[in-house]
Amino acid sequence: MNRSLVLAAWIAGLSACARPTLTELLTRATWVDLTYAFDSTTIYWPTAKPFRLEVVSAQRTPAGYYYAANNFAAAEHGGTHLDSPVHFAEGKHTTDQLPLAQLVGPAFVIDVTRQAQADRDYRIVRADLEAWERAHARIPERAIVLFRTGWGSRWPDRARYLGTTKTGPAAVPELHFPGIRPDAARWLVRRGVHAVGIDTPSIDYGQSSTFDTHQTLLAADVPAFENVAHLSALPATGAFVIALPMLIRGGSGGPLRIVAEWEVVRGTTLIPKFRIPNSAFRIDQAGSPFLITSSMTSPNRSISATVV
Ligand SMILES: [Zn+2]
Repeated sequence: MNRSLVLAAWIAGLSACARPTLTELLTRATWVDLTYAFDSTTIYWPTAKPFRLEVVSAQRTPAGYYYAANNFAAAEHGGTHLDSPVHFAEGKHTTDQLPLAQLVGPAFVIDVTRQAQADRDYRIVRADLEAWERAHARIPERAIVLFRTGWGSRWPDRARYLGTTKTGPAAVPELHFPGIRPDAARWLVRRGVHAVGIDTPSIDYGQSSTFDTHQTLLAADVPAFENVAHLSALPATGAFVIALPMLIRGGSGGPLRIVAEWEVVRGTTLIPKFRIPNSAFRIDQAGSPFLITSSMTSPNRSISATVV
């Protein structure tokens, strides 16, 4: 091989090893949908109007083309949805005022399934967060903290998910599901997290009558995501979340489409510089590139990723 051919092969090799762009990484990313579909079974707060879909057309028109269209109506707070700060804090952000940057970011998934299994009225406490940090990583500013109670396995069974099949004001005292205690909410505010989500109907537990955790988080302009789906599919750290609500002007919340991605790991600005937990990932660092191999398994699959 002459010298120019060697040089050409070397340059080709270099470009093959080039760091993939963010666009390239996202193009081949695997996304997990953390959203429940909206239909007649979608669970709403017992006093709220449920989702309704009215078929306007689902047929071939006289002109020969097929045409489908529907009307829909629903309360803001039901199914997978956003609580905007103004929901419990006068003067704070409405749905359309929330900065986009607050609705996307690295996810930190706190698992309290064991505690919630033992007590359906379990309230996540500050000690749960501190224990999680000791086992995993420090929760940084701008994190999206998602609480996994295991309640998703009960969806859409109203009796098991809400604690009651009743609707209207009489149902409210019979609500039983886990939530977050205000001391944990205050801790999250001090950490400067961007948003908090949970796989139950409310960030306050079912038996709450004063909604102190709503008051605490929303007064600090920290929005909440409720009835978040499929949290069992996410690792404790390393996922990136995009949570986009319907842009209701002046809204106190709204239907939310929330998705996560975690196989595009590292090498981009997607993942912040935090300590990756030994329990979830093993990192072999021999200069560059890095090899990251996950030993974590989820109910859906095990993951491993080689990245540069
Ligand atoms: Zn809500």
